[in-house]
Amino acid sequence: HIEIRNVSKSFGNHKAVSNVSFSINRGKLVGLLGPSGGGKSTLLRILAGLESPDSGEILINGKIVNDVAPQHRGIGFVFQNYALFKHMNVFDNIAFGLTIRKTSKAEIKERVNELLDLTGLRGFEHRYPHQLSGGQRQRVAFARALAPRPELLLLDEPFAAIDAKVRKELRTWLKQLISTLGITSIFVTHDQEEAVEVADEMLIVQQGKLEQQGTPVSIYTDPQTAFVAGFIGHSS
Ligand code: ATP
Ligand code: MG
Repeated sequence: HIEIRNVSKSFGNHKAVSNVSFSINRGKLVGLLGPSGGGKSTLLRILAGLESPDSGEILINGKIVNDVAPQHRGIGFVFQNYALFKHMNVFDNIAFGLTIRKTSKAEIKERVNELLDLTGLRGFEHRYPHQLSGGQRQRVAFARALAPRPELLLLDEPFAAIDAKVRKELRTWLKQLISTLGITSIFVTHDQEEAVEVADEMLIVQQGKLEQQGTPVSIYTDPQTAFVAGFIGHSS
């Protein structure tokens, strides 16, 4: 269970996140949507511990984690630019988060093999990132994020750089993966169709404020602010 309470964050005198509160139950796949500059990435970075809020609290399973370092929060993240380690093969990329946690060799091998199966990458473990397609690279990034068994997976436009056909396959795959693992995930997307198709819930943010949280059906049938009504009316 993830909760944020009255979180705000300014850069200079620009309020990137403004008094945002929400909570998400375990196992939900939540789409985070809103205009460019609305504060989506900043919110994810605050949850991940890569940015500290000026005020407010972040709770994971009821415990305040504001002072907990990113690697101890039980959070995995994947960003759009497949930031894989170029000099490491697929196996070592996936193992990275385990190696730095001093996991035993035998356990690393077992865990990486599990992830190779989950991500359909069995047989690719000795390849280097430049020998993979965009979709394959992104699946390696997912495997790497999942290796330490996070409670929460944060995805910032994970499929933005992938062509439409592969993107559709990946989002179906993602939905299955999240439900198989039973973990909670928040994913940023500009694609409303994608959000409606895979999300259990949507969060709509604009100018740092949370405009609405709800199921896709409730957002589309019962928009609660003029902004949300306009936003869903002009899908891009
Ligand atoms: P996009 O859809 O374009 O990715 P976003 O919703 O992710 O946008 P953020 O990246 O969270 O938006 O940015 C929110 C606001 O905070 C923007 O006005 C941005 O310029 C500003 N901002 C974000 N990070 C920083 C930073 N490190 N320093 C200064 N301003 C920042
Ligand atoms: Mg962003």
